[in-house]
Amino acid sequence: MLRDSAIARLSRWGRYALEAILDLIFPPRCAGCGKVGDYFCRDCRHLVRKPNLADRTYPLCVVSAGIFEEPLRSAVHALKYRKQRPLAEILADLMIANGLDWEPDLIIPVPLHPSRLRERGFNQAELLAQHIGAATNVTVNSQALSRVRETRSQVGLSWRERQDNVKDAFEAKPELVIGKRVLLIDDVITTGATLGACANALLKAGAAEVRAMTLAAAPGYEAPPSE
Ligand SMILES: [Zn+2]
Repeated sequence: MLRDSAIARLSRWGRYALEAILDLIFPPRCAGCGKVGDYFCRDCRHLVRKPNLADRTYPLCVVSAGIFEEPLRSAVHALKYRKQRPLAEILADLMIANGLDWEPDLIIPVPLHPSRLRERGFNQAELLAQHIGAATNVTVNSQALSRVRETRSQVGLSWRERQDNVKDAFEAKPELVIGKRVLLIDDVITTGATLGACANALLKAGAAEVRAMTLAAAPGYEAPPSE
């Protein structure tokens, strides 16, 4: 136990030292404006506009740190495709600063399908979830929910097609979620189809309540779907 925590600490400090050295050789550039010195600079962080999601409780209650537009859009892309750990921490801080008027028992990131995870090497939602869990002292479990069916990319699909695409794509482990208030974490909410399908799987497995927190919300998400 002690040894494990010593290794965890050592590797964390080792990681910080390595990042500090790399920062000297390759100074970080802001994902939003390209300015040298920060992964997502203060000026860009101030440009992030908060969406008003108070009226959107379908398919579940969601809070988002910002509208999916520049410079946040570039930051999301940088996180997703460049796996910048310090950037994940900055973006997770934006999510935490946004506040959550609710106390979850468990934080669960929206999972990638194992084949997609192998291809990308990491899950950006999991990186955000780990930081949020560490900062809020809430347990993070990435094994409680899994993507059991490979789905097409949601990009370019209509609202209805997105719902069908992710229906029954997720499965939760009852022994890990039963009676728990679960906070789902994802990078972007577009129509809520993916988060809705995750919430359904968790409720089916016995979770008491499910809400979600995302880094960004698509501009259209504020308005209910017109069908
Ligand atoms: Zn910037």
